[in-house]
Amino acid sequence: MEARTVDAARLYRLPWTMPDNGITWLEPTAHCNLNCYGCYRKNIKNSNKSLEEVKHELDFFQSMRKTDCISIAGGEPLLYPHIVELVADIKSRGLKPIINSNGIALTKELLHELKKAGVFGFTFHIDSKQGRGRGPEWEGKSELELNQLRLHYAEMLASEGGIACSFNSTVYEDTLQYVPDLVEWAHRHIDIVNTMVFILFRYITPDTPYDFYAGSKKIIWNDIHYHSEKEEKTDIMAPDVVAEIRKRYPDFSPAAYLNGTHAPDHFKWLLTERVGNKNRIFGYAGSKFIELVMTLYHYKRDRYLSYATPKTLGLGRTTLFNTWMFDSGIRKAFRKYLAYLAANPFRVFRKVNMQSIMIIQPVDLMPNGDQSMCDGCPDITYWKDKDGKEQLVWSCRLEEPMQYGDFLRMVPKNEKAEVPEN
Ligand code: SF4
Repeated sequence: MEARTVDAARLYRLPWTMPDNGITWLEPTAHCNLNCYGCYRKNIKNSNKSLEEVKHELDFFQSMRKTDCISIAGGEPLLYPHIVELVADIKSRGLKPIINSNGIALTKELLHELKKAGVFGFTFHIDSKQGRGRGPEWEGKSELELNQLRLHYAEMLASEGGIACSFNSTVYEDTLQYVPDLVEWAHRHIDIVNTMVFILFRYITPDTPYDFYAGSKKIIWNDIHYHSEKEEKTDIMAPDVVAEIRKRYPDFSPAAYLNGTHAPDHFKWLLTERVGNKNRIFGYAGSKFIELVMTLYHYKRDRYLSYATPKTLGLGRTTLFNTWMFDSGIRKAFRKYLAYLAANPFRVFRKVNMQSIMIIQPVDLMPNGDQSMCDGCPDITYWKDKDGKEQLVWSCRLEEPMQYGDFLRMVPKNEKAEVPEN
């Protein structure tokens, strides 16, 4: 039998669910200072919610769901006028505020204020299809050239100290080839870059085999916000990315995942934890390591871990020494580390870090029109429908209820839609 690139039997299924999750998604504004191709959200000026509204959403989240962190997204959250107070409020609730930003509005002074308010981490979205025209030096730059910009933010956070640093990029057919370069760049900066996230591009294209309905109303495909006028690949899968990374890092081994709601064999969030220093990757944590961490953290904090502090991730050596007996991946890495030390015992003074690599495979369109979402969606957010009912909904599809009052149904073009009775 042909070996599969990623084998679910060797992975830990992350225990995240709707009521008990590592992450929850908050959007205080839909206004952004970029117009990235591939964005799931309409850029709307003057869309800032009041601080009271946002606090109410946080109250709602806390009444519905245990969560470890709040991802403050948007729009561009640094444009939100109350961002510092918002971070302080999230922190005062005992949650970790993570800012998902393109970085443009981040100054040293603002970073310092956010640190004082309790920001836990940043996830910077940087990729080559963002139209970064505002900073002329970044316009039209390739994924590789943008590493200089990534490094700028990583160093900025490192000099402030104690703030988790992550980067995400959307991956398109023509940029998939650069993923190994980004993974290698992250390796070279493993001391200050904690996480890399690769989000696979999903849009509706002219060759769509589906009709779209909001209730009984048929929707024209190119009226939907996330559509592309050209035919392009919108079904890159997480194992394709793993195969690409393995061309550079043959041992690259994911350890945990979330499956799809309609495709249990899909890897919607695929997590890899590696351990190494700037010169060498010693190995990859296995499923039991992630299970151990999630279980112990939940036992202690009554919630699942999402982000770790840079300090904890900098304890790679201690992790190797303390957990090798529980996990075969760590055991292998520990053996390699001991051989590395045997060759030169002074290497014991070199710091060893942990680093996460996450691949996110958003909505998959199934042949029968079902839409397979991330089972245990971490990026769930707030929505109040036209009848005033508050709900938790997928942030990646929030435009649908915003625009049509409901999530869209898809029907294969050769089938007749069943019109719901009123
Ligand atoms: S379902 Fe959508 S919002 Fe939820 S985690 Fe997956 S991609 Fe993100």
